Amino acid sequence: MSKQLILALSKGRILDETLPLLADAGITPAEDLSKSRKLLFDTNLPDVKLVIIRATDVPTYVQLGAADVGIAGKDVLLEHGAEGLYEPLDLEIARCKLMTAGVTGQPPAKARRRVATKFVNVARRYYAEQGIQAEVIKLYGAMELAPLMNLADEIVDIVDTGNTLRANGMEPRELIAHISTRLVVNKAAMTMKHDRIKPLLARLESAVKKRQTQPIE
Ligand code: AMP
Repeated sequence: MSKQLILALSKGRILDETLPLLADAGITPAEDLSKSRKLLFDTNLPDVKLVIIRATDVPTYVQLGAADVGIAGKDVLLEHGAEGLYEPLDLEIARCKLMTAGVTGQPPAKARRRVATKFVNVARRYYAEQGIQAEVIKLYGAMELAPLMNLADEIVDIVDTGNTLRANGMEPRELIAHISTRLVVNKAAMTMKHDRIKPLLARLESAVKKRQTQPIE
């Protein structure tokens, strides 16, 4: 196993909040990520590299050892299964909730419920646990449209302020899970590169704590 440490970061919303946390932990990209189309980046540390990939691919990279460490939302980890990964640290960023939602004022369908979501595994598990028969329909975006277009009775989606739901005549119903961004580590890397990963974890942990004690401006 090489001595290099590869960190897989989720593109998009999480990345904007991840980079300041990494900077606090002493890791900064060697170039401006927003000005580059590259996917693999050097950092200020000679043996630490960053890959910037789709959030849904992060658990796969870390599980198969292509990356040693990953940063991904708990929603993505729940959906993926994230088997064989350690999840040692909650970075406490990009907090939101994974919820069921339906058309405002409309009671949930009693018999077999049609549910549109991109979180098909989470949804199947959740409805089975609730003893509710559900036909889960995979969508890749704009879940809020599905009940309006009679494609589904309910959706399972991420809710932050609830504004997206309200703007589409929908309301949140049941909470499935509280979500935040997590740090995951490949199990073999945790053993083989322990001397590299342990200090990184410690620095990130204190960066997270420092943020929590900072007054909100
Ligand atoms: P809101 O209208 O504030 O409830 O935001 C809901 C939409 O924003 C969802 O459909 C998500 O696509 C997106 N969203 C909000 N927070 C997050 C997050 N922490 N991670 C990923 N997507 C999010």
